[in-house]
Amino acid sequence: MSKITLSKSNFFYNLDKIQEKTRDISKIALVLKDNAYGHGLIEMATLAKEYGIQKAVVRSYDEAMAVVDFFEYVLVLADTPKSAHEKILYTINDADSIQDFPVGTRVELKVNTSMNRNGVNKEEIESCITKIKEQGLRLEAIFMHHSCADESNGNYELQKSNFELIKKEAPKGLRFHSCNSAALFREDDFSEDMVRVGIAAYGCMELDQKFFSGNLRAILSLYAKKISSRKLQKGESVGYGATFIADGAVVVSNYDFGYGDGFLRACSGSYKTPEDVKIAGRISMDNSSFLTDKESLLIFNDARTVAPYAQTISYEVLTSLKSYIKREIV
Ligand SMILES: *Cc1c(COP(=O)(O)O)cnc(C)c1O
Repeated sequence: MSKITLSKSNFFYNLDKIQEKTRDISKIALVLKDNAYGHGLIEMATLAKEYGIQKAVVRSYDEAMAVVDFFEYVLVLADTPKSAHEKILYTINDADSIQDFPVGTRVELKVNTSMNRNGVNKEEIESCITKIKEQGLRLEAIFMHHSCADESNGNYELQKSNFELIKKEAPKGLRFHSCNSAALFREDDFSEDMVRVGIAAYGCMELDQKFFSGNLRAILSLYAKKISSRKLQKGESVGYGATFIADGAVVVSNYDFGYGDGFLRACSGSYKTPEDVKIAGRISMDNSSFLTDKESLLIFNDARTVAPYAQTISYEVLTSLKSYIKREIV
Protein backbone atom coordinates (compact mmCIF):
# COMPACT_ATOMS: atom_id res chain seq x y z
CA MET A 1 0.00 0.00 0.00
CA SER A 2 1.05 3.59 -0.54
CA LYS A 3 2.10 5.32 2.64
CA ILE A 4 2.53 8.81 4.06
CA THR A 5 5.26 9.67 6.53
CA LEU A 6 5.09 12.77 8.73
CA SER A 7 8.32 14.29 10.00
CA LYS A 8 7.89 15.30 13.61
CA SER A 9 11.20 17.19 13.67
CA ASN A 10 10.23 19.26 10.62
CA PHE A 11 6.83 20.03 12.14
CA PHE A 12 8.42 21.17 15.38
CA TYR A 13 10.96 23.24 13.42
CA ASN A 14 8.11 25.06 11.66
CA LEU A 15 6.30 25.60 14.96
CA ASP A 16 9.53 27.07 16.41
CA LYS A 17 9.61 29.58 13.53
CA ILE A 18 5.93 30.42 14.03
CA GLN A 19 6.50 30.89 17.73
CA GLU A 20 9.39 33.28 17.03
CA LYS A 21 6.80 35.46 15.26
CA THR A 22 4.00 35.23 17.84
CA ARG A 23 6.40 35.24 20.82
CA ASP A 24 3.71 33.38 22.72
CA ILE A 25 2.79 29.74 22.15
CA SER A 26 -0.73 30.27 23.49
CA LYS A 27 -1.46 32.59 20.54
CA ILE A 28 -0.91 29.83 17.97
CA ALA A 29 -4.08 28.18 16.68
CA LEU A 30 -3.20 25.32 14.34
CA VAL A 31 -5.59 25.00 11.41
CA LEU A 32 -6.58 21.33 11.17
CA LYS A 33 -9.37 21.58 8.60
CA ASP A 34 -9.60 19.08 5.75
CA ASN A 35 -7.90 16.25 7.59
CA ALA A 36 -5.11 18.61 8.68
CA TYR A 37 -4.37 19.61 5.08
CA GLY A 38 -4.25 15.93 4.18
CA HIS A 39 -1.68 15.10 6.87
CA GLY A 40 -4.12 13.25 9.15
CA LEU A 41 -6.32 14.97 11.73
CA ILE A 42 -5.51 12.81 14.75
CA GLU A 43 -1.83 12.42 13.88
CA MET A 44 -1.35 16.20 13.68
CA ALA A 45 -3.48 16.89 16.76
CA THR A 46 -1.33 14.41 18.69
CA LEU A 47 1.92 16.05 17.58
CA ALA A 48 0.59 19.57 18.16
CA LYS A 49 -0.37 18.67 21.72
CA GLU A 50 3.05 17.15 22.31
CA TYR A 51 4.65 20.43 21.18
CA GLY A 52 2.39 22.39 23.52
CA ILE A 53 -0.10 23.92 21.08
CA GLN A 54 -3.33 24.71 22.94
CA LYS A 55 -5.60 25.95 20.15
CA ALA A 56 -7.00 24.52 16.94
CA VAL A 57 -9.17 25.68 14.06
CA VAL A 58 -11.40 23.25 12.16
CA ARG A 59 -14.17 23.45 9.62
CA SER A 60 -16.93 21.36 11.14
CA TYR A 61 -18.56 20.17 14.33
CA ASP A 62 -17.42 16.59 13.62
CA GLU A 63 -13.78 17.64 13.24
CA ALA A 64 -14.03 19.69 16.44
CA MET A 65 -15.39 16.74 18.42
CA ALA A 66 -12.62 14.50 17.06
CA VAL A 67 -9.85 16.77 18.40
CA VAL A 68 -11.38 18.60 21.34
CA ASP A 69 -9.61 16.49 23.95
CA PHE A 70 -6.22 17.55 22.57
CA PHE A 71 -6.80 21.30 22.98
CA GLU A 72 -8.11 24.04 25.29
CA TYR A 73 -9.90 25.89 22.48
CA VAL A 74 -11.28 24.76 19.13
CA LEU A 75 -12.72 27.26 16.65
CA VAL A 76 -15.19 25.91 14.06
CA LEU A 77 -15.13 27.95 10.84
CA ALA A 78 -18.45 26.99 9.27
CA ASP A 79 -20.90 24.78 11.12
CA THR A 80 -23.48 24.80 13.90
CA PRO A 81 -23.26 22.68 17.06
CA LYS A 82 -25.15 19.40 17.39
CA SER A 83 -24.52 19.57 21.12
CA ALA A 84 -22.83 22.13 23.36
CA HIS A 85 -19.20 21.79 24.38
CA GLU A 86 -17.46 24.26 26.64
CA LYS A 87 -14.18 24.23 24.65
CA ILE A 88 -15.68 24.65 21.17
CA LEU A 89 -16.39 28.08 19.64
CA TYR A 90 -18.37 28.74 16.46
CA THR A 91 -17.99 31.34 13.73
CA ILE A 92 -20.86 33.66 12.84
CA ASN A 93 -20.37 34.09 9.08
CA ASP A 94 -23.64 35.83 8.32
CA ALA A 95 -26.25 37.85 10.23
CA ASP A 96 -29.07 35.45 9.29
CA SER A 97 -27.26 32.47 10.81
CA ILE A 98 -27.26 33.90 14.36
CA GLN A 99 -30.68 32.35 15.04
CA ASP A 100 -29.30 28.85 14.27
CA PHE A 101 -27.05 28.75 17.35
CA PRO A 102 -28.32 27.39 20.68
CA VAL A 103 -28.37 29.67 23.74
CA GLY A 104 -25.03 29.73 25.56
CA THR A 105 -22.89 28.92 22.52
CA ARG A 106 -19.47 30.59 22.53
CA VAL A 107 -19.13 32.45 19.23
CA GLU A 108 -16.75 34.62 17.21
CA LEU A 109 -17.97 37.12 14.65
CA LYS A 110 -16.32 37.05 11.24
CA VAL A 111 -16.16 40.43 9.55
CA ASN A 112 -15.79 41.19 5.88
CA THR A 113 -12.90 43.58 5.21
CA SER A 114 -13.12 43.32 1.39
CA MET A 115 -12.52 39.65 0.59
CA ASN A 116 -16.30 39.50 0.04
CA ARG A 117 -16.61 35.82 0.82
CA ASN A 118 -17.88 35.21 4.38
CA GLY A 119 -18.38 37.60 7.26
CA VAL A 120 -20.60 40.55 8.05
CA ASN A 121 -19.95 44.03 6.70
CA LYS A 122 -18.70 46.82 8.96
CA GLU A 123 -22.11 48.56 8.99
CA GLU A 124 -23.82 45.37 10.21
CA ILE A 125 -21.48 44.70 13.13
CA GLU A 126 -23.41 46.68 15.74
CA SER A 127 -26.77 45.12 14.89
CA CYS A 128 -25.18 41.65 14.78
CA ILE A 129 -23.72 42.14 18.24
CA THR A 130 -27.17 43.11 19.51
CA LYS A 131 -28.72 40.07 17.82
CA ILE A 132 -26.03 37.78 19.25
CA LYS A 133 -26.85 39.08 22.76
CA GLU A 134 -30.59 38.67 22.23
CA GLN A 135 -30.06 35.09 21.10
CA GLY A 136 -28.15 34.46 24.36
CA LEU A 137 -24.83 33.66 22.68
CA ARG A 138 -21.44 34.50 24.19
CA LEU A 139 -19.46 36.68 21.77
CA GLU A 140 -15.72 36.43 22.47
CA ALA A 141 -13.86 37.59 19.39
CA ILE A 142 -14.02 39.39 16.07
CA PHE A 143 -11.89 38.10 13.22
CA MET A 144 -11.24 38.51 9.50
CA HIS A 145 -9.50 36.60 6.74
CA HIS A 146 -7.04 37.91 4.15
CA SER A 147 -7.52 37.41 0.42
CA CYS A 148 -4.02 38.54 -0.59
CA ALA A 149 -1.66 37.82 2.30
CA ASP A 150 0.78 36.25 -0.17
CA GLU A 151 0.44 38.95 -2.85
CA SER A 152 1.63 42.52 -3.29
CA ASN A 153 -1.37 44.17 -4.92
CA GLY A 154 -2.45 46.51 -2.13
CA ASN A 155 -5.35 44.38 -0.87
CA TYR A 156 -3.41 43.16 2.14
CA GLU A 157 -2.86 46.71 3.39
CA LEU A 158 -6.46 47.70 2.58
CA GLN A 159 -7.92 44.81 4.59
CA LYS A 160 -5.56 45.51 7.46
CA SER A 161 -6.62 49.13 7.71
CA ASN A 162 -10.30 48.19 7.44
CA PHE A 163 -9.82 45.80 10.34
CA GLU A 164 -7.97 48.39 12.43
CA LEU A 165 -11.03 50.66 12.19
CA ILE A 166 -13.31 47.81 13.22
CA LYS A 167 -11.10 47.06 16.23
CA LYS A 168 -11.21 50.69 17.36
CA GLU A 169 -14.99 50.83 17.30
CA ALA A 170 -15.62 47.37 18.77
CA PRO A 171 -16.90 46.91 22.33
CA LYS A 172 -14.22 46.32 24.96
CA GLY A 173 -13.26 42.86 26.13
CA LEU A 174 -13.25 41.08 22.76
CA ARG A 175 -10.28 39.28 21.22
CA PHE A 176 -9.12 39.96 17.64
CA HIS A 177 -7.35 37.88 15.01
CA SER A 178 -6.70 38.28 11.31
CA CYS A 179 -3.52 36.45 10.32
CA ASN A 180 -3.16 33.23 8.39
CA SER A 181 0.36 31.90 7.73
CA ALA A 182 1.47 34.39 5.10
CA ALA A 183 0.06 37.37 7.01
CA LEU A 184 1.88 36.33 10.18
CA PHE A 185 5.22 36.13 8.37
CA ARG A 186 4.50 39.47 6.71
CA GLU A 187 4.01 41.20 10.05
CA ASP A 188 7.11 42.82 11.54
CA ASP A 189 5.62 43.11 14.98
CA PHE A 190 2.73 40.73 15.48
CA SER A 191 0.52 41.87 18.35
CA GLU A 192 -2.97 40.37 17.90
CA ASP A 193 -4.51 37.84 20.25
CA MET A 194 -4.20 34.81 18.01
CA VAL A 195 -2.97 33.57 14.64
CA ARG A 196 -4.62 30.86 12.53
CA VAL A 197 -1.71 29.01 10.91
CA GLY A 198 -2.11 26.19 8.46
CA ILE A 199 0.30 25.94 5.54
CA ALA A 200 3.31 27.36 7.43
CA ALA A 201 3.00 24.70 10.11
CA TYR A 202 2.88 22.06 7.39
CA GLY A 203 6.03 23.62 5.91
CA CYS A 204 4.64 24.43 2.46
CA MET A 205 4.13 28.18 2.68
CA GLU A 206 5.16 30.03 -0.47
CA LEU A 207 5.79 33.66 0.33
CA ASP A 208 7.95 36.15 -1.55
CA GLN A 209 11.51 36.27 -0.18
CA LYS A 210 11.07 39.98 0.48
CA PHE A 211 8.60 39.07 3.23
CA PHE A 212 10.22 35.92 4.51
CA SER A 213 13.73 34.81 3.71
CA GLY A 214 13.75 31.62 5.78
CA ASN A 215 12.63 28.24 4.60
CA LEU A 216 10.08 26.13 6.33
CA ARG A 217 10.28 22.35 6.08
CA ALA A 218 7.65 20.20 4.44
CA ILE A 219 6.61 17.43 6.80
CA LEU A 220 4.65 15.09 4.54
CA SER A 221 6.28 12.52 2.25
CA LEU A 222 4.38 10.09 0.10
CA TYR A 223 5.61 6.65 -0.93
CA ALA A 224 3.97 4.30 -3.41
CA LYS A 225 4.47 0.55 -3.60
CA LYS A 226 5.38 -1.36 -6.73
CA ILE A 227 2.71 -3.72 -8.03
CA SER A 228 4.47 -5.00 -11.14
CA SER A 229 7.44 -4.37 -13.38
CA ARG A 230 8.36 -5.09 -17.04
CA LYS A 231 10.89 -4.39 -19.75
CA LEU A 232 9.78 -2.45 -22.80
CA GLN A 233 11.38 -2.28 -26.23
CA LYS A 234 11.63 0.84 -28.36
CA GLY A 235 8.20 1.85 -29.66
CA GLU A 236 6.13 0.10 -26.94
CA SER A 237 3.70 2.26 -24.95
CA VAL A 238 2.43 2.51 -21.38
CA GLY A 239 -1.02 3.14 -19.95
CA TYR A 240 -4.28 4.73 -21.11
CA GLY A 241 -4.10 6.53 -24.40
CA ALA A 242 -0.65 5.00 -25.02
CA THR A 243 0.82 8.46 -24.48
CA PHE A 244 4.23 7.27 -23.29
CA ILE A 245 6.27 5.54 -25.98
CA ALA A 246 9.66 4.03 -25.15
CA ASP A 247 12.48 5.53 -27.18
CA GLY A 248 14.70 2.54 -26.40
CA ALA A 249 14.77 -0.44 -24.02
CA VAL A 250 13.41 0.69 -20.61
CA VAL A 251 12.20 -0.80 -17.36
CA VAL A 252 8.80 0.46 -16.29
CA SER A 253 6.94 -0.36 -13.08
CA ASN A 254 3.44 0.27 -11.98
CA TYR A 255 2.73 1.74 -8.53
CA ASP A 256 -0.36 1.61 -6.34
CA PHE A 257 -1.09 5.34 -6.23
CA GLY A 258 -3.39 7.08 -8.72
CA TYR A 259 -5.74 10.03 -9.04
CA GLY A 260 -8.35 8.20 -6.96
CA ASP A 261 -5.87 8.32 -4.07
CA GLY A 262 -5.01 11.96 -4.64
CA PHE A 263 -2.29 12.03 -7.30
CA LEU A 264 -3.49 14.94 -9.45
CA ARG A 265 -4.04 13.62 -12.95
CA ALA A 266 -2.66 16.83 -14.42
CA CYS A 267 0.79 15.58 -13.34
CA SER A 268 0.53 12.90 -16.06
CA GLY A 269 3.25 12.78 -18.66
CA SER A 270 5.73 15.21 -17.17
CA TYR A 271 6.09 14.50 -13.45
CA LYS A 272 9.52 13.73 -11.99
CA THR A 273 10.06 12.56 -8.41
CA PRO A 274 12.56 14.23 -6.04
CA GLU A 275 14.94 11.35 -6.91
CA ASP A 276 14.55 12.29 -10.58
CA VAL A 277 12.44 9.26 -11.54
CA LYS A 278 10.23 10.03 -14.53
CA ILE A 279 6.56 9.22 -14.81
CA ALA A 280 5.50 7.16 -17.83
CA GLY A 281 2.24 8.24 -19.43
CA ARG A 282 -1.06 8.98 -17.77
CA ILE A 283 -1.93 8.63 -14.12
CA SER A 284 -4.84 6.18 -13.76
CA MET A 285 -7.37 5.90 -10.95
CA ASP A 286 -5.40 3.51 -8.74
CA ASN A 287 -2.09 3.29 -10.62
CA SER A 288 0.77 5.28 -12.02
CA SER A 289 3.82 4.08 -13.93
CA PHE A 290 7.42 5.21 -13.50
CA LEU A 291 10.70 4.42 -15.25
CA THR A 292 12.25 2.51 -12.39
CA ASP A 293 11.89 -0.81 -10.61
CA LYS A 294 12.21 0.43 -7.03
CA GLU A 295 9.96 -1.48 -4.61
CA SER A 296 8.99 1.64 -2.67
CA LEU A 297 9.02 4.88 -4.63
CA LEU A 298 9.15 8.32 -3.06
CA ILE A 299 6.50 10.23 -5.02
CA PHE A 300 7.09 13.56 -3.26
CA ASN A 301 8.50 15.01 -0.06
CA ASP A 302 7.42 18.61 -0.57
CA ALA A 303 4.02 19.38 -2.07
CA ARG A 304 5.39 22.70 -3.36
CA THR A 305 7.40 20.81 -5.99
CA VAL A 306 4.33 18.89 -7.22
CA ALA A 307 1.96 21.85 -7.54
CA PRO A 308 3.45 23.42 -10.71
CA TYR A 309 2.97 20.16 -12.67
CA ALA A 310 -0.76 20.49 -12.09
CA GLN A 311 -0.92 24.29 -12.28
CA THR A 312 -2.10 24.39 -8.71
CA ILE A 313 -0.98 25.17 -5.15
CA SER A 314 0.48 22.93 -2.46
CA TYR A 315 -2.82 23.18 -0.52
CA GLU A 316 -4.63 21.26 -3.27
CA VAL A 317 -1.86 18.67 -3.65
CA LEU A 318 -2.06 17.97 0.09
CA THR A 319 -5.82 18.05 0.64
CA SER A 320 -6.32 15.67 -2.30
CA LEU A 321 -4.61 12.86 -0.38
CA LYS A 322 -7.26 10.39 0.74
CA SER A 323 -7.68 9.77 4.45
CA TYR A 324 -7.34 5.96 4.09
CA ILE A 325 -3.65 6.21 3.14
CA LYS A 326 -1.66 5.02 6.13
CA ARG A 327 0.05 7.88 8.01
CA GLU A 328 3.19 7.19 10.00
CA ILE A 329 5.00 9.66 12.25
CA VAL A 330 8.78 9.46 11.80
C1 LIG B 1 -7.63 27.91 5.97
C2 LIG B 1 -7.72 29.11 6.79
C3 LIG B 1 -6.59 29.61 7.47
C4 LIG B 1 -5.20 29.05 7.30
O1 LIG B 1 -4.58 29.57 6.14
P1 LIG B 1 -3.06 29.22 5.80
O2 LIG B 1 -2.77 30.02 4.60
O3 LIG B 1 -3.00 27.75 5.53
O4 LIG B 1 -2.26 29.58 7.00
C5 LIG B 1 -6.78 30.69 8.34
N1 LIG B 1 -7.99 31.25 8.49
C6 LIG B 1 -9.08 30.83 7.83
C7 LIG B 1 -10.38 31.51 8.05
C8 LIG B 1 -8.98 29.75 6.96
O5 LIG B 1 -10.07 29.34 6.29
